Amino acid sequence: MRTVVDQGADIGEVLLTEDQIQTRVAELGAAISADMAGRQLTLVSVLKGSLPFMADLMRAISLPVRIDLMEVSSYGGATTESSGLVRILKDLSSSIEGEDILIVEDIIDTGLTLNYLVRYLRGKKPASLRICTLLDKPARRLVEIDVNYTGFTIPDQFVVGYGLDYGELYRNLRYVGVLKPEVYSQA
Ligand code: 5GP
Repeated sequence: MRTVVDQGADIGEVLLTEDQIQTRVAELGAAISADMAGRQLTLVSVLKGSLPFMADLMRAISLPVRIDLMEVSSYGGATTESSGLVRILKDLSSSIEGEDILIVEDIIDTGLTLNYLVRYLRGKKPASLRICTLLDKPARRLVEIDVNYTGFTIPDQFVVGYGLDYGELYRNLRYVGVLKPEVYSQA
């Protein structure tokens, strides 16, 4: 594994700028607040990729919110293909029975991870369950999922930044971009 010194230098193309992301997150927060007015929401975020989105989105929502965090694994290490295997690495820390749940996801690709998660959370008997994803790559969908809020629909490219990693790096970039091809060939 090569040592990365300048993460920005590895980016071949910026798909979404920091401004575009922040504007959209504010819009999503306003829409969620209007749709769920008068209620209290529990945001369930999926570590680690959703961390920046969760942090920004929760502050763009004007309703009272609780948060909980789960961690699931679907990709092994520095690969860019979904294995279809989902393992719970970290479960909810409290019951969600009777609560209005909003799943906060970074990206939906094949949909296998979210499909698993939705079924798992439905089993915990929440009052309602909605889904908000920052990014959607519909081209590779293997299972149909009803998404209530989507930040951006993007083409079938492997993206990094704003929480999304390659080999655990690039998560702290403020924008979403595509890595230069040589980054993969040197891995
Ligand atoms: P799915 O199960 O929908 O195929 O994949 C969902 C998970 O795969 C996401 O939560 C994310 O962790 C990872 N993933 C999917 N597409 C990308 C991508 O373009 N870039 C990165 N960094 N991760 C991705």
